[in-house]
Amino acid sequence: MRKIDPAETETGRVPADVIRPLSDALGTTDVAVNYYELAPGESTAYGLHAHGDQEDVFHVLSGEVTFETRDEPVRASAGELVRVGHGEYQRTRNGGEERAPVLALGAPKGGGDTEILRACPDCGTRTGQELSLNDDRTAVGARCVDCDTVTGEFD
Ligand SMILES: [Zn+2]
Repeated sequence: MRKIDPAETETGRVPADVIRPLSDALGTTDVAVNYYELAPGESTAYGLHAHGDQEDVFHVLSGEVTFETRDEPVRASAGELVRVGHGEYQRTRNGGEERAPVLALGAPKGGGDTEILRACPDCGTRTGQELSLNDDRTAVGARCVDCDTVTGEFD
């Protein structure tokens, strides 16, 4: 058994204001655990995406989060949970005025490839994306796999 205080773990920088990857701190072997704090407008993800073999559960701890999907968006408020199945596309967004802390659980941890879709202005549609760090490692860029256009930068 291991107990941690998320406030004492390191925070990542993108794509959300606060990201605390807790799997390593907890030593989880089968489930990915991530804590996010989304400022208004922010997302836990770089784009609409699906995991090949990982099921996710999001617990909205405060505020309100909208899950963009390929169909109707799904809204979840403080205290509610949302389950996303294998291969199901989604992207969270804090559409509210206040910060939204969200706890995300995914299993099996790192299961399957992640496919990311973003609107590509040059292709005129949503296309598959590749993520990479820029040369000085200060930002992550998303690039269209069809035409190589940069569709977003996160720093
Ligand atoms: Zn493109």
